[in-house]
Amino acid sequence: MQVSNSDLDQWTADAALHMPEITGVNRIALLRALCSQESSYGKLANPRHEISWCPLSRTVSHVAKSRHEVWGCLSCMSYGVLQGLYHSIADAYIESNPARLIDQRVAFNSAIALLIHKIKAQNLTTVSSIADAWNSGSAHDVIVPSSYITSVNVYYSQELNRV
Ligand SMILES: [Zn+2]
Repeated sequence: MQVSNSDLDQWTADAALHMPEITGVNRIALLRALCSQESSYGKLANPRHEISWCPLSRTVSHVAKSRHEVWGCLSCMSYGVLQGLYHSIADAYIESNPARLIDQRVAFNSAIALLIHKIKAQNLTTVSSIADAWNSGSAHDVIVPSSYITSVNVYYSQELNRV
């Protein structure tokens, strides 16, 4: 499943307008950088099975287990060009039906809503803290995915030079 460059250009430009302003952060460049990191800018946008959330292979939370009883492995996937994790999207009351996230536009809108939720709830003010929160759930915990953060910053710099 792919999203074309021209569609994704439009989606990210529109979504940037709905994001909170963050001093010193170019929101379009940020969204494009995250899409580049997560799906090679739409080229690799298949749903991805996240084995660490799958009760068939790990001990998972009670919530993750009960969602799996309802939805099967649709519940342990991340979706779309931003690879939004279903559990995070459901926890934030954005979308409860993971089957709907197979639609690329629904997956994108849900991921943007989740990203905005994280920026506001965690008071994120930098590209690095936003990348941290997107990859590991929180920018305020001990898990700091440094290679992921570095990579997003590289894409972000490239986007700044492009626009
Ligand atoms: Zn699974």
